[in-house]
Amino acid sequence: MYLLGKDAAELEELASSLGERAFRGRQLYRWLYVKEADGFAEMNDLAKGFRKRLSEKVMISPVRVDDVSRSAGGSVKLLFALPDGNRVEGVLIPDGERLTACLSSQVGCVIGCRFCATGRMGFIRNLSAAEIVGQFIAMNKAVRMKISNVVMMGMGEPLLNRRELFKAAGLITDPDGLGISRRRFSVSTVGWVPGIEAMRASGLRLKLTVSLNGTTDGQRRKLMPLAARFPLADVLHAAKEYASHTRQRLTFTYLLLAGINDSPVDARRLIKLVSRIPSKINLMEYNEIGGEFRRSDDIVTEDFQEILRSAGLTATLRKSRGLEIGAACGQLAGRYAPGSGRVLKAIY
Ligand code: SF4
Repeated sequence: MYLLGKDAAELEELASSLGERAFRGRQLYRWLYVKEADGFAEMNDLAKGFRKRLSEKVMISPVRVDDVSRSAGGSVKLLFALPDGNRVEGVLIPDGERLTACLSSQVGCVIGCRFCATGRMGFIRNLSAAEIVGQFIAMNKAVRMKISNVVMMGMGEPLLNRRELFKAAGLITDPDGLGISRRRFSVSTVGWVPGIEAMRASGLRLKLTVSLNGTTDGQRRKLMPLAARFPLADVLHAAKEYASHTRQRLTFTYLLLAGINDSPVDARRLIKLVSRIPSKINLMEYNEIGGEFRRSDDIVTEDFQEILRSAGLTATLRKSRGLEIGAACGQLAGRYAPGSGRVLKAIY
């Protein structure tokens, strides 16, 4: 059993079950999520006997950093070892004052998008809330800068692991705990409509990012098998409802693939699709992973962006930083051999 992933009520219950007053659970909460304690020894306002009983019964985090790779562009990929021997990856992406942690939600992924390295792995299992929060804390401890943003855009489709995702998101965005603003915690989905609806119903008001990657159902079906189940109209309807319910501006990501979805016709169709939804578009350069797809030419990418901008849309281009360490979008696939055991030093 692990302490990370438990909320205040569960920690109070744990304290009671170990013969302590319930408020000790609150203290434990502060040690875990405010002070980010590594061990029981430092929890010096808890009685020694309680700490001993805790250490006999529970561990703090299920996540261990197994490897760290840095890219020339400044991104850092961390390989996390999990208790059952599986591994997931996360990426730290610095951008001026901002430091974004990209976290995984599953080991592998069942969706099988054809452009994605994780999709090629297939699905192994969902991560627990402890493992999601554990990634965040391991990253936070690795840096001198404080992490300002979280994106659930690592391995897995987060909305297929909603219970654990929502629990972890609640902990990471608790102002009395880890304190990331909900407006800076983004859940990225390829369009799992029931998940978007559940996210709206959760009341968490997290940021929603939807990966469109195509402007017709046919195009999307070719890239993402999920699209056969959830046509564009349904995805956009759910997204619009989410934006209106949470009064937020959504992000649509659009991965540009040479000759597949990067024509001026696509750009114009994209404008029509999203223009009635308060949103911005994040164009993404593809990181070739040795399959059938190629990255769009720079000139094609610029033209695509320009067409969107001329129509008054906010369209940014995400350069694929981290490419050389396999840390860019669609490249997280746990390819690292275990146990290289490099020590993690402060990075930023
Ligand atoms: S892009 Fe996302 S949803 Fe698609 S296979 Fe990769 S991890 Fe899964």
